[in-house]
Amino acid sequence: MKLFTCGPVQMYPSTKEIAQKGYTYFRTDTYGNIVKNCMGRISELLGHKNNNSVIYLTASGTGAMDAVVDNCMTKKDKALVINGGSFGHRFDELLNWYEIPHDCLNLDWNEVVTVDKLEQYENKGYNTLFVNLDETSSGKLYDIKLLSNFCRRNNMYLIVDAISSFMADEYDMDKLGIDVTIISSQKGLCLSPGLSIIAFSQRIIDKINAESNPKSYYFNFKDYFKNMERGQTPFTPAVSIIYELQDMLNLIEQSGGKDAWLKNVQSKCEYFRKRATELGFKIPNYPKSNTLTPLYFEDIDAGEIVKELRDKYDLFVNPCGGTLANKLLRVAHIGNTTIADIDELLEKMVLTIENLKNKELVYDRK
Ligand SMILES: *Cc1c(COP(=O)(O)O)cnc(C)c1O
Repeated sequence: MKLFTCGPVQMYPSTKEIAQKGYTYFRTDTYGNIVKNCMGRISELLGHKNNNSVIYLTASGTGAMDAVVDNCMTKKDKALVINGGSFGHRFDELLNWYEIPHDCLNLDWNEVVTVDKLEQYENKGYNTLFVNLDETSSGKLYDIKLLSNFCRRNNMYLIVDAISSFMADEYDMDKLGIDVTIISSQKGLCLSPGLSIIAFSQRIIDKINAESNPKSYYFNFKDYFKNMERGQTPFTPAVSIIYELQDMLNLIEQSGGKDAWLKNVQSKCEYFRKRATELGFKIPNYPKSNTLTPLYFEDIDAGEIVKELRDKYDLFVNPCGGTLANKLLRVAHIGNTTIADIDELLEKMVLTIENLKNKELVYDRK
């Protein structure tokens, strides 16, 4: 089995060995220090100076998105959501859930944010922007500099879901004036699913401490901030994934650090796009994250390709949902895959498509 999916991804051998090594009871200084060390190193990878403003939750990425809306927003706020796919839509739903006043800048699956599209939202009293840096449903990468400048001009908090972009694309939290960054274990960090990490700017920590009144009992950030001073969490965390994280951070360092890691993902991504194009596959031309490549099909069912790759060859790529289910599939470049794996995938994709086309021909003749 090989995973070319966005998360869980193909994991590294040492990550899989962690469970066998065993871990400690967590209410200890030893564990607290491992956590603090890990969160400090995550901070550095995010380009974030304030090492003491990172917490982690035992929840998948959506749990963190939910908790961020619940803890960072009140009914006095007015938010704007970049809604250009299923993950943007999720922020819209969460803001609806908590009854936070907001509007959406709605975009088609293949549309990105531009100066023109932002224009009508300038000086309208919005105080927070929500964006999924890589809208994973189609792999488009929003122009974060444009959004960052928009937020500065309009004196807005900037809340970024970087879940599928982290460790695949450049990211500089402080330079971009980002107030909240959400990441998750099973994407670019290549760990088991179940842990998400949130980094905060000082000014949003101040806002949370002054105003927040979350509905959630379990995810109350004020408790998390207090506990994190000792590397602890209010409740039993995903201890195993913290050990995986510690191992992964070492692996990233041994591989040459963040830049070398990003370069490796980028080179797999570029190789895939070049070979796929040579083979006649259609790649949408909006700006894309290095995390994944969407492939667009006109005369053949993309969902059938996904199924056949899985059932016949044990190769997993991401299907798409909704109206794109038959048109688009996504191939991820994060995880422990090699150029040889990519060659194999492409070879099997070409075979699969030939098979499906032949089947159709037989069907047509009947
Ligand atoms: C994967 C992902 C999430 C989180 O999804 P979960 O299934 O809850 O882990 C959120 N946002 C983006 C952009 C993602 O790619």
